[in-house]
Amino acid sequence: MDQNRNNPSQNGPNKPGGEGQKPNNRWVALLIAVAIVLAISGIFNAVRSSQYTQTTWSDFRSAMNAGQIVEAELQYDRIIYLTKEEAAKDPAVQKACFTGLPSSYNLMELADELIARGATVDRLIVEDNSTIMMILSYVMMLGVAFLFMNMLTKRMSGDGMMGGFGKSKAKVYMEKSTGVTFRDVAGQDEAKESLQEIIDFLHNPGKYTDIGAKLPKGALLVGSPGTGKTLIAKAVAGEANVPFFSISGSDFVEMFVGMGASRVRDLFQQAAKVAPCIIFIDEIDAVGRSRDSRYGGNSEQEQTLNQLLSEIDGFDSTKGIVCLAATNRPEILDKALLRPGRFDRRIIVDRPNLQGRLDTLKVHTRKIKLAEDVDLRKIAQTTAGAVGADLANLVNEAALRAVRKGRKLVTQEDLLVSFETVIAGTEKKNTVLTDMEKRLVAYHEVGHALVSALMKKSQPVSKITIVPHTTGALGYTMYTPEEEKFLSTNEELLADLCGLLGGRAAEQVVFGVKTTGASNDIQRATALAKNMISLYGMSEELGLMAPAVVSNQYLEGQAHMDCSQETAAKVDAAVQKLLDKCYADSKQLLLDNRSLLDEISEYLLAKETITGEELMAYVNADKQQAEEATEEA
Ligand code: ADP
Ligand code: ZN
Repeated sequence: MDQNRNNPSQNGPNKPGGEGQKPNNRWVALLIAVAIVLAISGIFNAVRSSQYTQTTWSDFRSAMNAGQIVEAELQYDRIIYLTKEEAAKDPAVQKACFTGLPSSYNLMELADELIARGATVDRLIVEDNSTIMMILSYVMMLGVAFLFMNMLTKRMSGDGMMGGFGKSKAKVYMEKSTGVTFRDVAGQDEAKESLQEIIDFLHNPGKYTDIGAKLPKGALLVGSPGTGKTLIAKAVAGEANVPFFSISGSDFVEMFVGMGASRVRDLFQQAAKVAPCIIFIDEIDAVGRSRDSRYGGNSEQEQTLNQLLSEIDGFDSTKGIVCLAATNRPEILDKALLRPGRFDRRIIVDRPNLQGRLDTLKVHTRKIKLAEDVDLRKIAQTTAGAVGADLANLVNEAALRAVRKGRKLVTQEDLLVSFETVIAGTEKKNTVLTDMEKRLVAYHEVGHALVSALMKKSQPVSKITIVPHTTGALGYTMYTPEEEKFLSTNEELLADLCGLLGGRAAEQVVFGVKTTGASNDIQRATALAKNMISLYGMSEELGLMAPAVVSNQYLEGQAHMDCSQETAAKVDAAVQKLLDKCYADSKQLLLDNRSLLDEISEYLLAKETITGEELMAYVNADKQQAEEATEEA
């Protein structure tokens, strides 16, 4: 594998004793200044000598002896004189003569002789101080030229006005030591384990290079926002006790072309100076997806990405630079980034499971004074789906609430209430629903939950509530995905569809009305059905044909139709049919389980919020009853 081919910056950043950008500029400025001064003095000399007619010493002697000289200026090394012939001419075209003076000659005697022959001696410069003057003037000129050049190059390359191109404006931010260790990262054991090797390598690169092993230059931390990717990267730096450089991909995306690329260059240059170290690039998708983008202004991102790629290829990993990058959308990254030798390791930073959440809560409550009644396990159970950042925020909100209430300790209630604020959005106390509305919302939500619960392939429900929230939802049903899913089967998607339509189905079955509350459900169901038919090849009508294309998988992956009008019409018909079928299925399911629907809805109306377990208790009890009934019969 020869990835360093054609790579101009290959030994740039790591050149031993390599000059940073600044000193380099200075030398260039100095050189240019010297050249300017030399050129100026050359021109100056040429102009000066062209003012005079060059003559020889003997020409001068004979002119003097003939009494032809009117005026003379004597200097220690030269004589400038005006002959009678020239003096007679118009002053505008007069040209004096110039000759060198042999060093053996006595200037004073010569002056006497000239005067004796009728010439006037204008000036007599006996002493040779011109060298000093010359040097002085050169130095001054040099100084001025240098200052000027420096100003110019500064303007072009960096910290000058105009916001500076590249250099120090880059929001590169370095921490000598992060002070974060793996102890501060709860859960995420797999990620920690994968990174252990990198830490070991940073501690002792020799151990690896001796065998001839090449260490990964980069690893990609993949996970939802707030799962602790930045924290883990910092912990790696902290564990290895090396400096931590960080920059966000969105910082690269600047208005001025060339800025991003020069920031990348600066980042790696700075890092090379203090290696071993960690470079962390947050939101790498902001740069990494740029190529192939359909929209304008992407040449900047493309340049930045290219620079990043060549820097990654360029740095010598034996020096101990490890590049970590974070993203929550690995699928939109440019394939070039993921090639071997670049970010070829992928470390999944998962949403925490129950144990993970509990550990995270423990980490964040280490410095918090907790009351006796606090049961962190309970909190961990209620916060299914929450990420580390949510939990950190929750604990902090709870502490603030305790202070607001004038308490010295944080209670369980504080934690539970802040859960509502942080994770579920603030409870909207002032939305007063009429009783009828409340019933509608309750049945609607239970409709979702019950259909899902009754369908085997559906995601489990974790919470149902009819407490209105600031997000605008009058109620919601929260699902717990068992794990982050990358693949879904046809059955699972059908179950999801039925669940989505379960809300409207319940409204219809129980009240015979249609409410606006189902609008979001219907939009989501339509989008899902459309994808199933036009992208996933899951319909009978169109079979394996994909009439839509995802025009740009590096972008949002939005699909658009790319087929004949007739096919598009077929797709629409198929979507409708699919939705109708799922709707009919969930309606039937609710009709068949009408008593269960009523029971749970009444329970929800009374309690406002119920958990997935409570729901399942009802469902299972019902199932058991039914089984017993069949056995008896
Ligand atoms: P990301 O970079 O994935 O968006 P961050 O690393 O910025 O997430 O996480 C934000 C905050 O959430 C962290 O500073 C930390 O307080 C908390 N946090 C996230 N994950 C964890 C975890 N596994 N253990 C402890 N704290 C966490
Ligand atoms: Zn709904």
